[in-house]
Amino acid sequence: METPPFTYASFQQFLTQGRLMGSRCSRCGQRYVPPRLICRRCHEGDMEWIEMPLQGKLAAFTTIHVGQSFMVSEGFDRHNPYCVGVIELEDGVRISSRLIDVDARQPERIQIGTPMKAHFIHQGNPEEARTVLAFRPFA
Ligand SMILES: [Zn+2]
Repeated sequence: METPPFTYASFQQFLTQGRLMGSRCSRCGQRYVPPRLICRRCHEGDMEWIEMPLQGKLAAFTTIHVGQSFMVSEGFDRHNPYCVGVIELEDGVRISSRLIDVDARQPERIQIGTPMKAHFIHQGNPEEARTVLAFRPFA
């Protein structure tokens, strides 16, 4: 099978299959998710696809009251905020993601370091399927 290009579109395509894929530099081993074509550390372009861990910990987050239009279309607004955060995956790589199953109206109750697990939100119709990556707390 041909290797998909190291683009955000390929990353998105993997998400629709329920896979969290990143790229790894074959020279220095640095990993990126979403994938990068050129390594930021050694500036090589010799990447390979790797499956990323689906679990990690919450490293940072913010609550959004005035969101992007597609979030507004999902019913989020000033009165119904949502959270996005940075997850440190089990292998140490960080990814930013939407957070679900957290109470965005009570951000003081959301704890840094909470174990989080990836969740794939499948949206749209079969012709125009779209998958959104989210992370949710798990015990
Ligand atoms: Zn490298």
